[in-house]
Amino acid sequence: MALLLTGQWGAAEAARWLQVLQQAMPAEQWLIDAPRDAAEAAAIEMAVVANPPPGRLQGLPNLRLIQSLWAGVDRLLADPTLPAGVPLARMVDPAMNEAMAQTALWAVLALHRGFFDVQAQQAQRLWRQPAQCRAAEWRVLVLGLGELGGRVAAALLSQGYTVEGWSRSPRQVPGVQCCSGAELVGALARADTVINLLPLTDQTRGFFDAQRLALFKPGASLINLARGAHVIDADLLAALDAGQLRRAVLDVFHQEPLAAEHPFWSHAGVTVLPHTAAQTDPRSAAAVVAANLQALRAGRPLAHRVEAVRGY
Ligand code: NDP
Repeated sequence: MALLLTGQWGAAEAARWLQVLQQAMPAEQWLIDAPRDAAEAAAIEMAVVANPPPGRLQGLPNLRLIQSLWAGVDRLLADPTLPAGVPLARMVDPAMNEAMAQTALWAVLALHRGFFDVQAQQAQRLWRQPAQCRAAEWRVLVLGLGELGGRVAAALLSQGYTVEGWSRSPRQVPGVQCCSGAELVGALARADTVINLLPLTDQTRGFFDAQRLALFKPGASLINLARGAHVIDADLLAALDAGQLRRAVLDVFHQEPLAAEHPFWSHAGVTVLPHTAAQTDPRSAAAVVAANLQALRAGRPLAHRVEAVRGY
């Protein structure tokens, strides 16, 4: 049997991943990009994927597992040719969770202490101290209390912030005021900073539209670390221009890289990050892939299976 490694990436990145995966699974035979003939196609047991081109996973009769190297699987699930009935697992990488917590912490700290404003003041040689409130007086709402949202909430709690969290099903996270469903309205109205860590699904696409942004506490900020399509860009810009939102820290965009002419680049209230909040770390991710392959072969439950109907 063989394993297929396929993605939309440069040759150098593919080679880097192959090397680390081979180290973690030295006994396996790897095929790269696509099988060359029917015999190779029939040999493929697991596909390790990084958003491969649509159609790439068709015609693999013995495929038993699709393992994503990325945490978000919205692009994979949007491929209508994705083999139905083959389990799909997503990446949950402890090193990525750690990186996400660092990014969220940096952004919340900078918002809470006014450091984005101070940075802008430097260009004008302006000496002005921002107001300083205590972390406990700063309320952060984390949307999505899964792997990443849960880790982010814990990091914020460790710094003394008041943390609320919203998820699809009711959750209990120590120290976090958890809510779900319509309770979102009250939570949005209370939060000084809102962090988006929802998966992109039919239910969450366009989540931050004019109607929802109007529910924010006036002068609150949005940190979007999940997907660009969660945001209606024009509505966010209007909310910033109206002063309804103070700042948006955006790591993800409808189109990436962000087009040079996009107004986000030059808007004083927007901080643009190049989708760098948390990258999968090949070293820890390879161990996750190896463990799932072992589980598959041993008939044990697979880790981090995606429910196609749920969309994440
Ligand atoms: P998880 O699946 O572990 O968690 C998702 C959370 O969102 C869960 O708490 C879930 O609720 C909640 N949720 C899902 N749908 C809804 C809904 N309709 N209403 C309310 N809550 C909802 O995902 P991760 O934490 O691992 O990842 C989240 C996203 O982060 C990824 O999908 C990806 O898009 C993005 N990401 C961004 C990166 C970056 O660098 N910017 C890097 C990695 C990921 P419940 O608990 O009830 O299931």
